[in-house]
Amino acid sequence: MKVINDVRDMRRWTERQRLAGRRLALVPTMGYLHEGHLSLIRLARQRADVVVVSIFVNPTQFAPNEDLDRYPRDFERDEALCRQEGVDAVFYPSAQTMYPPHYKTYVITEDLSRVLCGKSRPSHFRGVTTIVAKLFNIVRPHLAVFGQKDAQQLIIIKKMTADLNFDIDIIGAPIVREADGLAMSSRNAYLNKEERQQATVLYKSLQLARREAEQGNRSAKDIKKKMTALIESAPLARIDYVELVDTQTLTAKERIEGETLAAVAVFFGKTRLIDNTVLNL
Ligand code: AMP
Repeated sequence: MKVINDVRDMRRWTERQRLAGRRLALVPTMGYLHEGHLSLIRLARQRADVVVVSIFVNPTQFAPNEDLDRYPRDFERDEALCRQEGVDAVFYPSAQTMYPPHYKTYVITEDLSRVLCGKSRPSHFRGVTTIVAKLFNIVRPHLAVFGQKDAQQLIIIKKMTADLNFDIDIIGAPIVREADGLAMSSRNAYLNKEERQQATVLYKSLQLARREAEQGNRSAKDIKKKMTALIESAPLARIDYVELVDTQTLTAKERIEGETLAAVAVFFGKTRLIDNTVLNL
């Protein structure tokens, strides 16, 4: 397995793979890998001949008051996991490499980036689309795999890819959960014991939404009210949002019909957790 830090080296390596007629997959991550990331790598393996994993804690997707500095990092462990999974190359650039001094150019996917997580994190998706566009141009993969865990991110990346004519298949991978339902996340490492126990309310609220919808409740307002009450029953939980939106436009739904994305963001202390599920009626 190659570990590559430099943009030019990465380009040369992937160019050789393409010339050899191999199909290339990219799995972008911020590292501190868990089973969720590994499921993306395995899916990439199934769909491509060569798998590149990028590990980069992208500063532009963190606001100044967010957790960039304390975001968990363990490159040696990540490297070993990638090796175990048969990854062909890890792209591990420095922040200086990706954003040299006087860096000026950003990619913005309008509207979709302003709702849900974009409300409380207004510059977040601008950072995400910018780094992903850069990674696409450096690695030039045939396909890229993203987790449904970050549903809004996946929708935005698909839109950016179409709008900017990247010739790349965007593949969504299902959410991997802990035994008690909590969606795996590098940020779960921040939770203390009580917070970790109570964090299951995110998934429970999504299950509640599914039950309500399946039992014929079509009122988004009513379902949101019930989800909110359930989350608020956890004393340490502070809701950022509870939303039921259209899966394409991310606009709020009044009636639950067709495909609906149920999405929640909840703070436990300083830790912000997100989760979602698609209700398909
Ligand atoms: P991150 O390192 O958190 O930026 O995540 C990198 C990729 O892994 C993103 O496409 C995420 O959506 C995906 N991912 C993170 N957690 C999970 C999970 N629990 N299940 C599936 N995919 C995930």
